[in-house]
Parts: sequence; C-alpha cells; structure tokens
Amino acid sequence: MHVALRQSELHDLYDKLAIGERLTEGDALRMWKSTDLHAVAALGDFARERKVGNRASYIVNRYINYSNYCILSCQFCAFSRKKRDSDGFQLSVDEIVQKAREALALGITELHIVGGLHPNLPFEYYLEFLRALKVLDPRLQLKCFTAIEVLHLAWMARLSIEETLTRLQAAGLNSLTGGGAEIFESGVRSRIAKGKESAAEYLNVHRIWHKMGNRSTCTMLFGHVEALEDRVDHLRQLRDLQDETGGFVGFVPLPYQPENNQLDISHKPTGVDALKTIAVSRAYLDNFEHITAYWVGLGMKLAQVALSHGADDLHGTIIEEHIFHMAGASSPQLQTEADMISAIREAGRVPVQRDTFYQPIRELSGDCLVPMEPGISGSRLLVNNLATA
Ligand code: SF4
Repeated sequence: MHVALRQSELHDLYDKLAIGERLTEGDALRMWKSTDLHAVAALGDFARERKVGNRASYIVNRYINYSNYCILSCQFCAFSRKKRDSDGFQLSVDEIVQKAREALALGITELHIVGGLHPNLPFEYYLEFLRALKVLDPRLQLKCFTAIEVLHLAWMARLSIEETLTRLQAAGLNSLTGGGAEIFESGVRSRIAKGKESAAEYLNVHRIWHKMGNRSTCTMLFGHVEALEDRVDHLRQLRDLQDETGGFVGFVPLPYQPENNQLDISHKPTGVDALKTIAVSRAYLDNFEHITAYWVGLGMKLAQVALSHGADDLHGTIIEEHIFHMAGASSPQLQTEADMISAIREAGRVPVQRDTFYQPIRELSGDCLVPMEPGISGSRLLVNNLATA
C-alpha cells in the first residue's frame, strides 16, 4: 500500500481497488470531500497503474471549428454567436480542407471538428466536408460533432438519429467527440445550458453510435454551480452506459472557464479540485481505459501533474483552439509534439503517440519514436478489440 494511504481515512478504498471491487457513489463522494490530496492522488495513481501501466499518450491532431453560429445561448458558453454579431464565422468546405491540408503537413492523424448549432446550414454541408477530407487523405481520422450537434443535424434533416449517424459515417465520420455532456443533473443543466438537450438525449446518441459498432469519448464540465453529488451522478450515468455498450474509449473532465459568459462565477476550479477530479474519475470509472488531462483547460503544468493522479493521456497538439480560449483559458494555442513528449517523460511515464481510438502508433524508445505495431493500423487494432469486447 502507498505510504500516503496507510494512515488515511481512505485506506479501505485502496483495499477495494486492490481486489478489483467497484467503488460506490459514496466512495467517490468521500474521495472528493477528503482534504487528504496525497491519499486521493495515491488512489487515482494506483488505479491508473493497474489499468494502463506506465505509458501516457498524446495525439497529433488539429481542431477545426466550422462555425460559431448557434441557435442556443448556453450561459457558460463564450464561443457562440448570432448571425447579427460581427465576430461570427462560418467556414466554407474549401476553407476547412485548406486548414486540414496545412495540418497534414505537420503530421496530424486526426481532425477534431465541432461547431455551434447552426441555424440554417444544410445537412449536405456536413456530409460534403467529411467526404472532401477523406478524399484529401483517407487515413485521416475524423472525430467530429458532439452528441448535441448530432441531435441538431437529425432535427434539421428530419432524419432519425440512427439514419443521421449512418449517413455521417458513410461520408467519413470515424468518431464522435465527447462535448455537450456538461453536467447531467437537470437543475444544474438548466442553470448553465438552458434549452440544451437532456442527459438522456446525450447518452442515447452515444448509445446508438456504440451499438452501430463505433467508439466515442465523453466529458464532464466541472467547477461551476454543480455540487459534488452532481459530479458523482454524472460519472455514475457514464459508467452505466459504459457497462451497457463498452463504447467509450476515454473520459475527459473539462474544467470550467469563467470569462465572457453569462454565469456569475468568476473563478476557475482550483488546482486541487482539478487533480481530485482526475483521481476520482480514474478510481470510480473502472470500466474506462483512459482518462485525459485536458491541457487546454488545466494548463500544461497541471496536466503534467495530473499524470500522477490517475490521468494517462494529455490530449493533442490541437494547433488552433477557440472554445476554451474565448472563455479565458490562458494556455497556448498549441503544443508541439516535442513539448508533449518531454512533459510525459519528465512525469516518469513512457510517451506514446496514439490515434483517435487511443491505439498506440509510436512509442518513445531512447530518443526515438518507434512504430509499435508495424503494418497494423490503429483502426485494425480497434476492430480486433471490438471483436473480443
Ligand atoms: S455550448 Fe454549444 S450549444 Fe451551447 S451555446 Fe455554446 S456552441 Fe451553442
């Protein structure tokens, strides 16, 4: 047992984790409420080590926001604009392809594409840019759209969710993003994102996508008006769906950013809160392989420390980020691959470049990145995993 846990009030949770017993919601709440950060960290780190060993990953990717026009006005959001606003934008398919072309030259393996709930772009626009990006490079993994965007597209196109996802997939969609989860509890959800689709609707889009044989990530926006009990409820609902489908490849806790929005909360979650959230997520979500420390929201220094609190992934190079930076994030717009490798190495982990599905591409050996599975693509590995799931 880790020395930090021997005298700790949380030592019984170590015993549970050690024999593979699932933590309860009460256990998760105890971890969040504990003032013993060392013990909480030791639990998260122990669970990480058992699950994924000593590797920590990153992805070489680029973000693209196709538009910030949105029919909703979520109170926490600093990104969305109305058509009357002078700083609204909407990219053409050619502009999206041009951004992708430039990023391919930097070695990206993934494009992460989201936008607002646009009032009138036709469904064909989304299909067209997916197809155009696959023509540009068929190996490029397209991780696009939140569950909320999918619901919006289905509504605009007057299609079922399954038919909407089927057509998006046929056009090139590889994975859904995890955004739009916010906090599931309906009272909090209405205070921070009035009018947004419910938790059940968010989860149902992911359920359908998973049952089509696909994968996605999921998120939780924390550190605003929610209670710790609401966070536990959020994780419980994600764990339940993961028990049902096994389709989430990773969980990404997102720290709230307080600027330029309508919420009367002027502070970000503290560093201690963010680290505890990573540790509780790792210990409680025993059916998730990967927990990401999102450097855009945490800052790279705290994300690096999170690698010893349960996280095993630093997310991506990103290149151009709008959503968090418009809400006041002070992190840089991008990380180079070298920055991510040295942050991971300094934290005592073995850096691994991963793909969209967290499958390893290259691992650092000495000072060289070495292909991990020569001749086997990430997507083939995923298919193998699905076959044994
Ligand atoms: S969070 Fe998303 S849905 Fe809500 S206002 Fe912002 S862009 Fe629109």
